[in-house]
Amino acid sequence: MGKVYLTGAGPGDIDLLTVKALRVVREADVIIYDRLANPDILKEAKPGCEFVYVGKQDGRHTLPQDQINEVIYQNALKHENVVRLKGGDPLVFGRGGEEAKYLRERGVKFEFIPGVTSAISVPAYAGIPVTHRGVAVSFKVVTGHETPNKKESQVDWEAMKADETIVFLMGLHNLRTIAENLIRIGRPEETPCAVISKGTTPEQKSVTGTLADIHRRVAEADIQTPALIVVGKVVELKRDLEWIEEAE
Ligand code: SAH
Repeated sequence: MGKVYLTGAGPGDIDLLTVKALRVVREADVIIYDRLANPDILKEAKPGCEFVYVGKQDGRHTLPQDQINEVIYQNALKHENVVRLKGGDPLVFGRGGEEAKYLRERGVKFEFIPGVTSAISVPAYAGIPVTHRGVAVSFKVVTGHETPNKKESQVDWEAMKADETIVFLMGLHNLRTIAENLIRIGRPEETPCAVISKGTTPEQKSVTGTLADIHRRVAEADIQTPALIVVGKVVELKRDLEWIEEAE
């Protein structure tokens, strides 16, 4: 029985892959990856390494998580070094914990290899520090995937009243409702926001605005997934700290 490396692929820029991740990728007998992992990473694999794609394909859905767990397990029975490669960090909305639990229950050894999460690095590539002295002393990373109106929402909107930075992942399609909810709980309409698409890649693109108009601005621009939303005064620093995007 082999060992499974639950590995963060970083946010897109291949240079943000960790040294440890690169080492296990080079030693891997099989790499199980999904949509967000930069495919160039696979070129680092040794000859004969197998690749198993478990992400979304042309409109079809991703494999259900229990099937992904089983694919990883079955590969661990067959191979020595199994790399499960996931975008960003495997434990930040990456379901790496569930995969690890499944393996532990079946006696398979695993390691977590943290990755550079998009939640921090994508704002950084857009010139937005998630904390900044005198501007924001804390930040939250929240799923934007839940329909915020959903009756039994697990997202605590009331807890977002504080003047801190909030990064929403998986929220592009709910952008309007997210902004409306923040205004409803008392965040000022003029609170700065940014939506950053394909961050850290050559196709990075961002749109800035306020809670009141970000939805309209994003609709006017051609913004594609993956994209994240940054809310808070730190977004204003972008003007002075932008270092990568030439034109917006
Ligand atoms: N484990 C990942 C997050 C998985 S959730 C991590 O740590 O980064 C997937 C969401 O991450 C996307 O919907 C998007 O909101 C965000 N995301 C991932 N890569 C991104 C990128 N390059 N640019 C913008 N957002 C990104």
